Amino acid sequence: MERTDGKLGIALVGLGSYSASQLAPALQETQHCYLAGIVSGSAEKAASWKEQYGLADECIYDYNSFDSIVDNPAIDIVYIVLPNALHAQYVIRAAAAGKHVICEKPMATTVEDALSMIDACSKAGVSLSIGYRLHFEPYNQEMMRLGNTQKYGPVQKLTARDGLEDVSGWRLKKALAGGGALMDVGIYCVQAANYVMNMTPIAVTAEEGKKTKPQDFTEVEESMAFQLEYSGGYIAYCACSYTQVMDELHAEASNGFFSLQPAFAYEGIKGKASYGEMAFEAINQQAAQMDAIAAAIKAHKPSPVPGETGLQDIKIIAALYTAMRSGARVLVHY
Ligand code: NDP
Repeated sequence: MERTDGKLGIALVGLGSYSASQLAPALQETQHCYLAGIVSGSAEKAASWKEQYGLADECIYDYNSFDSIVDNPAIDIVYIVLPNALHAQYVIRAAAAGKHVICEKPMATTVEDALSMIDACSKAGVSLSIGYRLHFEPYNQEMMRLGNTQKYGPVQKLTARDGLEDVSGWRLKKALAGGGALMDVGIYCVQAANYVMNMTPIAVTAEEGKKTKPQDFTEVEESMAFQLEYSGGYIAYCACSYTQVMDELHAEASNGFFSLQPAFAYEGIKGKASYGEMAFEAINQQAAQMDAIAAAIKAHKPSPVPGETGLQDIKIIAALYTAMRSGARVLVHY
């Protein structure tokens, strides 16, 4: 089943809502990669995906047969879209099979796991990328440009808020999710603050929000307010929630501002700056992300969203949980 059009074959691991509603449709639009295979624990899903996407029998795996993907030349990249705590095991198994890897955010639930994943991919000589789709999204790219070039001077104050509601299932279980709103949506605030500031924070403070649904949030935090402190004394004020919809990113610089709302959504992102309304074409973020990663692999270039960036975020998240529990300002060790 090798192809002659130069596209790399991607196998999606875990056919949940993100794979089904975003990644598989996006893979119908990509130029450098295509949906070549699936890995699922559900025989029913496997059968319906096979039918819908015309997948070959030999490209359909379950979690037990997964390692035999090593013998399948049609699969170049394995994309891990499982609950957070399972990322490490499957990234390491994919690397052992000699496949390039994309891993969804958050990369891992512990710093130790993230380090093992980077080590496994490096030893196997395969590329490791994290599913940070907003790096490929034009409005967020404009925020990066305005921040990084200091178009309006240094960013003095940044505000980022991201929240969902109606969260259920594994996201409420610490063993599978690693944590609550911070791990899942607060990570977008951490990412955005870092890519606008073009720095990583030196210290953090955090406060857990009062639980409005204590019956659901027995294991993980429902919400958190946190601050990221950068060199020079600049602060990013962030908030994340699992019971309140929020989606915004604002940067105030010495001589101007730039801002997105919504900022982190799959579509409909809008922005304005001191120069006026931002106007960029809407794109399929997931297609752009997978194409950029596949193009880098084909060109033997480093990933645009490497495992090291994922690791940095896990270190910041670990410091934030320490700060939340202790109430203290915590230095981030990189
Ligand atoms: P879902 O719960 O919808 O899907 C997860 C899938 O993982 C399941 O459908 C199942 O697939 C498989 N799975 C294997 N073992 C388990 C288990 N023990 N419990 C539950 N599911 C299991 O999750 P999402 O698709 O929303 O999220 C998956 C990952 O993608 C997460 O890491 C999340 O953070 C990330 N994500 C990223 C987004 C982004 O914008 N970048 C957006 C949404 C999610 P099967 O039945 O095929 O085995």
